[in-house]
Amino acid sequence: MTEAGITVSWSMKPSDWLDIAAVIDRAGVTAMVRYAVDTKATARQPIRYATFFLRGGWKGLPPAAAQVPPPRPGGTKPPYCGDPDCDEISRTREVEDDRGIRSLQRCPDCHPASKGQAA
Ligand SMILES: [Zn+2]
Repeated sequence: MTEAGITVSWSMKPSDWLDIAAVIDRAGVTAMVRYAVDTKATARQPIRYATFFLRGGWKGLPPAAAQVPPPRPGGTKPPYCGDPDCDEISRTREVEDDRGIRSLQRCPDCHPASKGQAA
């Protein structure tokens, strides 16, 4: 709060602290500070008490989850190719060269770094 240029008295009743803790849990500190900055910019009188924000709008802040877009399904990894030589976790294949030396190589079909490259 102070970092955002807002200096207010945090003296309040214990029940108000419980309310603020509930708002932090529900909406998050970022939303509270944003609301406080907006309110201070439009307030006609200096705001001296944090309870002003609490009664003025923090209680009405929407839950933080409602503001966050849902995560993209599937993540960033391409789908597992299903090849028996391919390890589903590491997306690598054990390859044996002409001299019989085995080594792990990125799966050309489903390793994330291989995606988009010409086959
Ligand atoms: Zn694969």
